[in-house]
Amino acid sequence: MAFDKFKDECGVFGIQPYCEAANLTYLGLYALQHRGQESAGLVAAEQGRLTCYKRMGLVADVFSEAALRDLTGDAAIGHVRYSTAGESRLENAQPILITSHHGQIALAHNGNLVNAVQIRESLERSGSIFSSTSDSEVILHLIARSSAAEIEDAIVEALAQVSGAYSAVFLTADKLIAVRDPHGFRPLAMAELGEAKLFASETCAFDLIDAKFLREVEPGEMVIVNERGMVRSLFPFEKKPTRQCIFEHIYFARPDGLMFGESTQAYREALGMKLAEENPVDADLIVPVPDSGVCAAIGYSRQSGIPLSFGLIRNHYVGRTFIEPKQSIRHFGVKIKLNPVRSLIEGKRVVLVDDSLVRGTTSRKIVKMVRQAGAKEVHMRISAPPTTHPCYYGIDTPTRNELIASSHSIDEICRYIEADSLAYVSREGMFSSLQGSRQEQYCDACFSGNYAVPFPKNGAPV
Ligand code: AMP
Repeated sequence: MAFDKFKDECGVFGIQPYCEAANLTYLGLYALQHRGQESAGLVAAEQGRLTCYKRMGLVADVFSEAALRDLTGDAAIGHVRYSTAGESRLENAQPILITSHHGQIALAHNGNLVNAVQIRESLERSGSIFSSTSDSEVILHLIARSSAAEIEDAIVEALAQVSGAYSAVFLTADKLIAVRDPHGFRPLAMAELGEAKLFASETCAFDLIDAKFLREVEPGEMVIVNERGMVRSLFPFEKKPTRQCIFEHIYFARPDGLMFGESTQAYREALGMKLAEENPVDADLIVPVPDSGVCAAIGYSRQSGIPLSFGLIRNHYVGRTFIEPKQSIRHFGVKIKLNPVRSLIEGKRVVLVDDSLVRGTTSRKIVKMVRQAGAKEVHMRISAPPTTHPCYYGIDTPTRNELIASSHSIDEICRYIEADSLAYVSREGMFSSLQGSRQEQYCDACFSGNYAVPFPKNGAPV
């Protein structure tokens, strides 16, 4: 069975000790919903006994009141996951709960392991039986094989064998353990609420439940929380250069958080200002592509002095399950999601601002739609450099040959999307817009092809 490669986008949460651990985890996952919409799950520990509940669907649909009532105990971890269609199966939902000679252990993992295929093949040859196609299961098999006496040592032994991205929370009968890979590709933050310690992919999960953000789990750090909320921190792995994901800031994370020492909203606005400074255009109106382009459009408008209007309105209730009518009306396409406001756009020279251009198909449809709404000119501005390489560390990007900028010049892309002009923020501009962190701390492989962890050839997409 093939692995569910490179397609996981996830959010994780953990809390101990708190009387309503499962309820707070539910709320935390609710805040992290944007990180994964296909499955949600929760493991709660009640007097050393772990119980798992996970289903396909959105957080609010997965957990009924009755389900939450049964998830008693004062420790819990949770997970939301997105994978592309076809690979989306319940057996790949997380947390994964297993029983081994170390007792029960549950894992919620965000990130992609680049050597999971090789490890799995070798484990299978020696008799392991896998129950999912998720790379995360490999970690649990390696833990189960460890003869270390303490669970944290077994986790360290297991993680020392995998490479790639992991920001993970583990729950055992008495410990909550959070760990971030030595490069720190994916985020993981820490907070407190009374005695309880909490971990979450993004700080917005803490805001919702009034927990106090303490700090980020450092790249290469393992934080162990005991039943009384006491914390121990270890740096058990070989030190590697920090490579946090710049695309979390550009697109993936919610803007209302602090990540990698940076306000995501402030960064996106600064990117928009840089974009305007580097690529000005004589126009009448800035229109954000909602929701991803909103912050950068605010910055673009501020820097250029051109007014901003919400000239594209998004329907927020479009599910991933929507099916277009096959016969009657063909190609609803992007219109299902977005509708232009003709009264704002008609007769205007419009600058559309979005955060990224991947395949180019969305931009092409939006440009056409805005022209049909009467725009005199349509200029496209992107608050990221051209996306030329796929991500192997946990952002869902198509294969290299589907990335339009991997094989086409900016002029060619501009012609393809049928815009009057197209411009991206430069790589230098992307980094100089950072305010609380430094360029060297970031992975920008999707824009540069500089991969911090090489990808073994037989598992790599092309
Ligand atoms: P495309 O048609 O492939 O060029 O899509 C570009 C749009 O996809 C932009 O509006 C982006 O905000 C959005 N986007 C970029 N990366 C991702 C991702 N990993 N998952 C979902 N949407 C994305």
